[in-house]
Amino acid sequence: MSVELTARDLIEEMKLIADRLAEARDELCRLDGVIGDGDHGVAMADGFAAAAKAASLLDANSATLADVFNSSAKALLNAVGASSGPLYATALMRAAKSAGARGAIPIGETPTLVVAMADGIKARGQAAIGDKTMLDAWGKAAAVAQQSLNEGAPLAQTLEQIRTAGHEGAEATKTMIAGKGRAARLGERSRGHIDPGAASASLIIDALAADWLRLSGEKAYTKGPSD
Ligand code: ADP
Ligand code: MG
Repeated sequence: MSVELTARDLIEEMKLIADRLAEARDELCRLDGVIGDGDHGVAMADGFAAAAKAASLLDANSATLADVFNSSAKALLNAVGASSGPLYATALMRAAKSAGARGAIPIGETPTLVVAMADGIKARGQAAIGDKTMLDAWGKAAAVAQQSLNEGAPLAQTLEQIRTAGHEGAEATKTMIAGKGRAARLGERSRGHIDPGAASASLIIDALAADWLRLSGEKAYTKGPSD
């Protein structure tokens, strides 16, 4: 039997993301307190808790991947007033479109979900890479994913590179001046601090890619930063 990402797996992954964000809640609020308004941890933890709950209410036997992504997007949008709400809702809806009305996709297709989510964030937020936003993590991870797909690189290698790109993309925001969002008002004073949205993005990217790697059953190509 070929290895797949099923709707049931994805429902569990929404819970995994919610758990990771709940653990990081205080740290993300602290980061947002420095260059924003201090609510990012609450927005992300509450938003993905609502998304995971909505996903868990679906019938895992009959739901499609699009159902899981779309119901998560809707719940997240309703739960979050901060700008990360519509950005992630759009990301999840793009992933829904990419996965489509299928109960499962081949595991080798999972990098396309990273590309779709990054495209959604870019379309919604109109940020560029280098603007010190969540797109610095998502965009770098998506670029690696797209290149690996084009080259037909081994999945385990691709997923490890996606994890690394997400972490490095978030880390790189430290030396940037914000060009979008609340932090842009600080101008030069935004420099020297990691962007909270990029930090949470790297957590989500890491959780997803690590779980796809686990599902693929392939041996890790290199160890990720969080191993
Ligand atoms: P708010 O700024 O409304 O309080 P959050 O605190 O939840 O929202 O999220 C802040 C994060 O949102 C920022 O750290 C940044 O990564 C991201 N962000 C803000 N504006 C944009 C944008 N236009 N495009 C992409 N990401 C953005
Ligand atoms: Mg905020």
